[in-house]
This record gives sequence, C-alpha cells and structure tokens, in this order.
Amino acid sequence: MKEKKMMMLGPPGAGKGTQAKALAMMFKIPQVSTGDMLRAAKQNKTELGLKAAAFMDAGDLVPDEVVIGIVEERLKADDAVEGYILDGFPRTVVQAEAMEQKGIELSYVWNIQVPDEEVVRRLSGRRTCPTCGTLYHIEFNPTSEEGLCDKDGTELMQRDDDKPEVILNRLDVYKEKTQPLIDFYRQRNLLIDVEGGSKPPKEVFRVIVQQIEK
Ligand code: ADP
Ligand code: AMP
Repeated sequence: MKEKKMMMLGPPGAGKGTQAKALAMMFKIPQVSTGDMLRAAKQNKTELGLKAAAFMDAGDLVPDEVVIGIVEERLKADDAVEGYILDGFPRTVVQAEAMEQKGIELSYVWNIQVPDEEVVRRLSGRRTCPTCGTLYHIEFNPTSEEGLCDKDGTELMQRDDDKPEVILNRLDVYKEKTQPLIDFYRQRNLLIDVEGGSKPPKEVFRVIVQQIEK
C-alpha cells in the first residue's frame, strides 16, 4: 500500500475538512489545515494572525511565503512522520512548487468536485464547534439540539468568511488561483477525481477509502 501523504483539493465547501477529519481518524495521521491554523492565529492575535486577517476576511489568499513557512514547520512534528492530510494547502502553483522543492511528498490528491450552487448552499449553512472543531450543516448535517454541538454542547459558530459576498469571491479566487493545481497534479499522476456534490459525506468517504485500499 502507498504512503498516506494526502492532499484535499476542491472548491471551498466541497467537504475537504469533513473528509480530512474522517481520514485522519481512520488512518491515525494528522489533518493539517492551513485554514484552521490561520484562524487560530487570527483569534489569538499573533503576528501571523494579524498579517493574515484582512486577506481571510475578504476571502483572498494569504501570501504564499507566509503559508509555506507554517506548513513546513508543522510537518516537522513527530505525528506527521508516517503520513498527513493536507487540507487547504497548496492553494497556488507557487505553493505546490515550493512544496516539491522542500521535499514534501504526496501520494494521493483527492479532487472533490462540487458544483458552484452546491458550494454556496454548503458554505451558507456551515456551522463549526469552536471547542472540538466538529463540522455541521444546518440542513445536511444538523445537530440534535439547534445551535449546540452534539459532542460537547458548545454553542456553534459561523465563520466570518461564510457570508454571501465573501463566498462568491472565494469561489472566484479558487477558480483563478487553485484550479490550475488540477492539471499540475494530473500531470504527476497523483490526482483522483471524487464526485462530491450529490452524495452524503459517508458515501464520499467510502469512495475515497475504497481507492486507498485498492
Ligand atoms: P471545505 O473544507 O471543503 O471548505 P467542509 O468540510 O467544511 O468544506 O464542508 C462544508 C459544509 O458542507 C459543512 O457544513 C459540511 O457539514 C457540509 N458537507 C460536507 N460534505 C458534504 C456532503 N457530501 N453533502 C452535504 N453536505 C456536506
Ligand atoms: P479554508 O479554511 O481552507 O477555507 O481557508 C480559509 C482562508 O484562509 C482562505 O480563504 C485564505 O484566506 C486562508 N488560507 C488557507 N489556506 C491557505 C493557503 N494555502 N494559501 C493562502 N491562503 C490560505
């Protein structure tokens, strides 16, 4: 079986985080989400967070050199030796090339395909637990008690960049800056297309695991 060095590719709201969390649990490897790391930095008002905040709030990408550095550091940790799931990185060809130059390897790139109108529906209804990070959707994956996390009862939050005007910009940014990675990884024979727009999360997960175990 191949090494579990994976990357989630796809538009915002495709279900990258949802699938990355499930894969991380199944294979006991870390989910490395640049979005989560940047949001934590923003909330803690660190130097990185202050640098990133304006880009994130507008739905634009944080400068390449900032993001490459934090991923490189994170992957040095012991828990990432056996494998990792990159979620939200790389997001530009410059980031992907920098990764290659630094010797950061990939064995699977999951290209989760979801149409634009579904992206808007998913992001508008996304809710997150600030304590444990569990992802919900008000319609597709609701909590048993409205607005409260099923696992720990914390009040759920809506991300600042899941507002309608920012969502549309994020989709444009994805098409312009990130979509070129589809060809980049197809050329390297790493890309696996996964239809993610019409199946529930468990079904998408089953398809991914089937590919890994093939
Ligand atoms: P991404 O990490 O790609 O931005 P998320 O994993 O955060 O996407 O998912 C976005 C929203 O869509 C969340 O509210 C999540 O619960 C929901 N979601 C994820 N996968 C599916 C799916 N296959 N069907 C319906 N809703 C989904
Ligand atoms: P995400 O949680 O992946 O949707 O990312 C949220 C926001 O964080 C993005 O809209 C960007 O502003 C920023 N971000 C996350 N990952 C990257 C990356 N690899 N490169 C640049 N900006 C990023």
